[in-house]
Amino acid sequence: MKELTRKRILVTGGAGFLGSHLCERLVMQGHDVLCVDNFYTGTKDNIAHLLDCPNFELMRHDVTFPLYVEVDEIYNLACPASPVHYQHDPVQTTKTSVHGAINMLGLAKRVKAKIFQASTSEVYGDALVHPQKEDYWGHVNPIGPRSCYDEGKRCAETLFMDYRRQHGLSIRIARIFNTYGPRMHPADGRVVSNFMMQALHGEPITLYGDGSQTRSFCYVDDMIDAFIGLMNTADDSGGPVNLGNPHEVSMLEIAGRIVQLTGSSSRFELRPLPTDDPWHRRPDISRARELFGWEPRTGLDEGLKATAQYFRARIEAGAAAARPPHVSGTTA
Ligand code: NAD
Ligand code: UDP
Ligand code: UDP
Repeated sequence: MKELTRKRILVTGGAGFLGSHLCERLVMQGHDVLCVDNFYTGTKDNIAHLLDCPNFELMRHDVTFPLYVEVDEIYNLACPASPVHYQHDPVQTTKTSVHGAINMLGLAKRVKAKIFQASTSEVYGDALVHPQKEDYWGHVNPIGPRSCYDEGKRCAETLFMDYRRQHGLSIRIARIFNTYGPRMHPADGRVVSNFMMQALHGEPITLYGDGSQTRSFCYVDDMIDAFIGLMNTADDSGGPVNLGNPHEVSMLEIAGRIVQLTGSSSRFELRPLPTDDPWHRRPDISRARELFGWEPRTGLDEGLKATAQYFRARIEAGAAAARPPHVSGTTA
């Protein structure tokens, strides 16, 4: 890659599900990629295939501590994303979002780097507006079991906007909606990984509530296109941008599709709905379309097939022992 276009890019949380795909894409584009991760939920397996690339570097580091490196761009993805993981040590989750954001913004300020924040549809909470547009302020419980994640990410957005207003930083905020695909941790407790593992093992599919709650699932390759599109957009206003696939399905429907495409004999088992579980979620992605012409291209069946293939391979390679965990339920 020409020296003029080749960038030094830091990816925090680079050994996680989304981070590893992002590192891979940036390495393939010829950039110098520094992956920083404390391996809280990510694994070396996710980035093992990149370790021999001369333009890839791995550093074990916790973003709640300062980091002094010289880079041109920062993608800040470090944070557990699955409810089971982020509720495991909620204080650390808030620290990661808030202290992590402060440190990465301080770094961006010092080296004059452009910085991207992996925010989330959870900033809308149990949304009262549907579908969700970026100007909706959300409906978040500030003291519940999901708040460490929701409020941590909301505070990080505040910090990003204030570093822009106060220090003139070039920022990008992505509000990411549910994303799935290869390299999701088989035991991370999220719905796609749980249902896949259960279906492939012929175990009961654990539907929380009556399964009528909805989500809109985006395939990982489409999401990585969006990350890079947003980072490179000429628009420097800094406002948040929804990224996700607007195709909305109920949990009952996705369970049925996974059972069907894996040829599983699993039956459904109803479990209590977790506290504050959002009822409906669907992004309005007009802003992303306008800003960088992005449109998700992978259909749900196609994406789920690729994901099932990955989980099958993981099981064959010995991940069978990892059993799906669950968030503690209350019938809300
Ligand atoms: P993941 O858990 O697979 O990846 C998170 C990575 O961050 C892991 O590698 C983990 O080890 C690392 N990490 C956690 N705390 C850290 C710390 N203090 N210091 C350094 N590294 C740390 O999750 P993911 O699905 O890849 O999510 C990546 C980002 O995208 C997260 O910020 C998440 O909030 C956001 N996001 C993801 C989704 C989704 O559906 N996947 C949806 C909304 C937002
Ligand atoms: N920081 C960092 N790397 C840097 C520069 C700063 O990790 O290259 C951290 C630093 O520890 C500080 C935080 O970023 O706590 C915020 O930095 P900023 O300069 O905005 O604030 P200040 O240092 O004045 O608190
Ligand atoms: N869910 C479920 N069974 C499971 C795991 C999750 O029915 O084994 C439901 C969960 O209650 C939620 C949806 O699936 O309504 C998505 O959950 P996930 O944890 O993947 O992500 P969220 O969007 O809630 O952060």
